[in-house]
Amino acid sequence: MSETTPGFNTLSIHAGAQPDPTTGARSTPIYQTTAFVFEDVDHAANLFGLQAFGNIYTRITNPTTAVLEERVAKLEGGTAALAVASGHSGQLLTFHTLMQPGCNIVASKRLYGGSINQLNHSFKSFGWEVKWAEANDPQSFADAIDENTRCVFIESLANPGGVIMDIAAISKVAKAAGVPLIVDNTMATPYLCQPIQHGADIVLHSLTKFMGGHGNSMGGAIVDAGTFDWMASDKFPLLSTPRPEYNDMVLGTTFGTMAFAICCRVLGLRDLGPAISPQNAFYLLNGIETLALRMQRHCDNALAVARFLQNHEAVEWVSYAGLETDPYHALQQKYCPNGAGAVFTFGVKGGYDAGVQLVKSVELFSHLANIGDTRSLIIHPASTTHRQLTDAQKTAAGAGPDVIRLSIGIEDAKDIIADLEQALAKVPV
Ligand SMILES: *Cc1c(COP(=O)(O)O)cnc(C)c1O
Repeated sequence: MSETTPGFNTLSIHAGAQPDPTTGARSTPIYQTTAFVFEDVDHAANLFGLQAFGNIYTRITNPTTAVLEERVAKLEGGTAALAVASGHSGQLLTFHTLMQPGCNIVASKRLYGGSINQLNHSFKSFGWEVKWAEANDPQSFADAIDENTRCVFIESLANPGGVIMDIAAISKVAKAAGVPLIVDNTMATPYLCQPIQHGADIVLHSLTKFMGGHGNSMGGAIVDAGTFDWMASDKFPLLSTPRPEYNDMVLGTTFGTMAFAICCRVLGLRDLGPAISPQNAFYLLNGIETLALRMQRHCDNALAVARFLQNHEAVEWVSYAGLETDPYHALQQKYCPNGAGAVFTFGVKGGYDAGVQLVKSVELFSHLANIGDTRSLIIHPASTTHRQLTDAQKTAAGAGPDVIRLSIGIEDAKDIIADLEQALAKVPV
């Protein structure tokens, strides 16, 4: 290998992978096996005691999944990663490693709706509290932090609403409080934004979305930046105190800059169990090979569509940080200079009925609840995902009666625009 650091495209294709040592297979094989044969009794004992790295059982590690883990870690500039069954299960393992009953998470109000549910309802039953902060106000994070806070949680590019977070400013707040900053980088992907460069300690992904990119496989990832000192306080006992199940090993000192990822694996993944299937790891790896090509095309298409909508008579407003007039444009230039992502919202003048008519009238767009597919996707949150809320609650959640959310695919921009044009012509103004 040459001395220079490989570029993003090279890493997307090669990081973590090599020809299969036994068969020479060039593409990473799907190791569709549950368990792995030990070399001998000592080898088995060393694996179980964390004295040696190796495969025991696919709930904990698998060779196909290991390639995916190394690739995501390299693309994000982290020290180690683990891949899991879904984005949400990655969040569960992350918080399980950091939290105890009575502790709290300080989180941005602008998170993926599923994450808001997870934090507000399911995590409460574990005794984990959440304190909400204003996405565009780093001081509100500082104000929310107290002695029971164990982490700060934000999305780099927030879904929906096109909010770009000031990661560096919020990282300063988390550092001053002695807690890690966790950044969900699902919407941006490391092609657009690398949160570790701006001070994130842990990066999370739903690989289900743009990373896999083809709308065919669920997966999640937890990336350890290796930056946080787990031994500096008594706030993180899973990392800083002896673990009886591993011969009183202290994971924080034994594994140094990879301690968080290893703790999530050998305690969280081992005991809570949301393992990714090797088959899905394979599909996600394939998707990641073209990440840069796809993301640039997604962003270029999204900007063209946003400009078209901005000038359309049936459209009241467009919220996309890539537009020069958008309030988040300056932060986009700083954190996501290659583009503002492919998911955004706009408002139709005719309100609820117009929104319903629009989703009925599109032909190329698919009406469904997902983002980050090669295909263009549309949803009218007020009549679907946010249907059960009152009008006031819908508006507060960024899902007012007039709001349409798009996830722009990588088809030809002219065809995406033509589909919206014919559909908007059928909408009551
Ligand atoms: C989809 C999504 C998640 C959850 O991921 P799953 O893979 O669906 O579990 C978390 N965060 C963001 C930003 C998402 O878009």
